[in-house]
Amino acid sequence: MAKVVINENKCKSCYLCIDVCPKKIIKKSDKIGVTGRYVVTTEDTSGECIGCGFCAMRCPDLAITEVYR
Ligand code: SF4
Ligand code: SF4
Repeated sequence: MAKVVINENKCKSCYLCIDVCPKKIIKKSDKIGVTGRYVVTTEDTSGECIGCGFCAMRCPDLAITEVYR
């Protein structure tokens, strides 16, 4: 099963990863990050992540670094 890990301390809340996820499982969380805006999280409770890695490749701040299969 695929899984991504988001480093909330690196997230700059640009939300580019939300746009590129084909499964739409990355969402804004309720935590405020370093830019004063909400950091992102994955609420992938149904295991929908396909491990495409688009989110990790798109993140300019390398906040999404791990994809497991
Ligand atoms: S690896 Fe692909 S499916 Fe999984 S969260 Fe990232 S963009 Fe979405
Ligand atoms: S692309 Fe990276 S920095 Fe931008 S919201 Fe997603 S995890 Fe945060």
